[in-house]
Amino acid sequence: MAKRTSMVLAAAAGVLTALALVSTAGLARGPETNHAPAPSKQAAKPAPSHGAEPTKPQKSAAKGEEAPKTGEAKGGAKPAPAAERKIDAEAEPVAERPVKAKVAAVDGGISAEKGLALLAEGNARWVANQNENPADEPSRRAKVAEEGQKPFVTVLTCADSRLPVERLFDRGVGEVFVVRVAGNIAGVSETGTVEYGLGHLKTPLLVVMGHSKCGAVAAAASGAEVHGSVAKILDTIRPAIERAKRNNPGVDEKALVAAAVKENVWQTIFDLLKQSDEVRGMVERGEVKGVGAVCDISTGKVDILGEHPWQSELMDVLASRKPAGNHEAKAEPAAHGAKAAQADDGHGDEH
Ligand SMILES: [Zn+2]
Repeated sequence: MAKRTSMVLAAAAGVLTALALVSTAGLARGPETNHAPAPSKQAAKPAPSHGAEPTKPQKSAAKGEEAPKTGEAKGGAKPAPAAERKIDAEAEPVAERPVKAKVAAVDGGISAEKGLALLAEGNARWVANQNENPADEPSRRAKVAEEGQKPFVTVLTCADSRLPVERLFDRGVGEVFVVRVAGNIAGVSETGTVEYGLGHLKTPLLVVMGHSKCGAVAAAASGAEVHGSVAKILDTIRPAIERAKRNNPGVDEKALVAAAVKENVWQTIFDLLKQSDEVRGMVERGEVKGVGAVCDISTGKVDILGEHPWQSELMDVLASRKPAGNHEAKAEPAAHGAKAAQADDGHGDEH
């Protein structure tokens, strides 16, 4: 009995010590992370145009963690004790951050070219670890909820969790209309959602984005046995695999997947044009520019590939066929096979 009591006491002492450590850490961290006066916030954020030297966050010598930006607690930080959280809540209710990055929010009204430039600039910030996080304040949320969304781009990309779309283009709330599905394919639901983004929300720009190390493309390339609805996704990707193989004979599986990722982007653009008279019409009339892209998930760099290399030829072929309605299920008509084979000859180099 005495032994058991002493064990209980020892355990209790351990818990108390741990609590004391957490509390001390929280108190020590509190002033710099949550209570920095406004001027120091301003000083801590260098102007983005000042080149390389001071723009990156400093690494802490002790743990190699990024020093938290002033005014916001970093995700990696331990939660503050309850009492401290209460104080923070009283001090800063849902206040706007006083000094905001100077990337203006976009509410439609820009050209496809301007949209592409914004995406490229935002992606460069992401790659350089200098995100400005535009259009993310509480007032922005309230504004777009009240006035409606006017995104400037529709993005169809993979569901992969390593592709945080708004972050990797450094854009914010109400700016990017995103459709995500494994393997960035265009089935009925995706095509309909793209139609909504282009036709109803009037985004002048469509980006179909694949990515390196795409599991869906790799699975289709390896011939992996899958079941259920996943098999249907892989069936949609398979024509891209076949073209990548034709165009890159003898390459190893890694290189094949990389080539197929790109082919799959073209496949999806073709499928959108083929399945949707609305999408094709908007592209034909020059109301929408559709481009392919591939994101390298290791670096975050997005390579904008431009329009489908055979877009005008494909459009001619599609326009000359008799109207077949929208959302056909079949993937690759003979015309696309022929044109795509030609496209492979001229554009099969890996990015
Ligand atoms: Zn993927």
